[in-house]
Amino acid sequence: MYCDLHMHSTASDGTDPPGELPRLARQAGMDAIALTDHDTTAGVEACAAAAAALDLAFVPGIELSARLHEVSPAVGAAGPLIQGVEMHLLGYFIDPDDADLAAAQRWLVEARAQRNPRLVERLNDLGVRIGYEEVLARAGDGVVGRPHIAQLMVQKGYVRSLHEAFIRYIGEGGAAYQPKARLTAARAIAVIHDAGGLACLAHPVQLNVPDPDAVELLVRALKELGLDAIETHHSDHRQQHVEHYQTLAKRFDLLVTGGSDYHGSHKACRIGQPSLPMSVYHRLAEAAGR
Ligand code: AMP
Ligand code: ZN
Ligand code: FE
Ligand code: FE
Repeated sequence: MYCDLHMHSTASDGTDPPGELPRLARQAGMDAIALTDHDTTAGVEACAAAAAALDLAFVPGIELSARLHEVSPAVGAAGPLIQGVEMHLLGYFIDPDDADLAAAQRWLVEARAQRNPRLVERLNDLGVRIGYEEVLARAGDGVVGRPHIAQLMVQKGYVRSLHEAFIRYIGEGGAAYQPKARLTAARAIAVIHDAGGLACLAHPVQLNVPDPDAVELLVRALKELGLDAIETHHSDHRQQHVEHYQTLAKRFDLLVTGGSDYHGSHKACRIGQPSLPMSVYHRLAEAAGR
């Protein structure tokens, strides 16, 4: 009995429709999944219905882009190490129709609508000819993300892989990189809680911090803001990462979670790689009062 509590659909930058994910998850041997699209709950209803039809346990979720804004004085002299660090926060068991969460989603979509044309403009300056209209068409009804831009760059032969698109052009440090506005971590956690959900730090290995000690400081700062859980298992985590994050979970009394971060055909990771025992799902559900 296994679960995969981190998955994306076409409602953001995945390639499978939300109503298809439960069937694929069943095929991969899962008994529970979470839909965690970037900055949107638009796919939750369709995914929930398909999961119910298959008797698959389902976590309505979201993955919010956030930044640590203010570090409490309790963090002390090391505060500047983690000030401004960007992260993804998963919200589990949220009410997908919550009004404050809907307002946060609109704000985040606007932040993308500000950044994406700038990114495309900069690419054009660098001789990478893609049109903003093409990017919108590729994203369809979904929240527009850099992977959509990267897919076009591959299709047109400017780069060989999504990874190359990020490294050379659109990732942090890339020639066309443009930052986008994010929620403060405090706001993101509060919005998730107000919508009835649990707030979880996603894939800590992706945090841009100087060393493992800084990760611990960040987790402590987030715990003070109400963090409920940490994603110990993730397709980007090696065994040493898993052990480190399990230690942090114990130290800061956080629940653990994990999943593949499945995005469909444009990322290598498969559903259920990694998967976690269903006890992880049950503990989270209990904590959320489900
Ligand atoms: P955005 O939210 O539009 O800024 O895009 C961020 C998304 O791009 C992440 O959630 C990942 O899915 C994807 N991403 C980030 N870095 C890379 C990379 N090096 N290679 C492939 N995909 C990436
Ligand atoms: Zn993504
Ligand atoms: Fe993420
Ligand atoms: Fe994700």
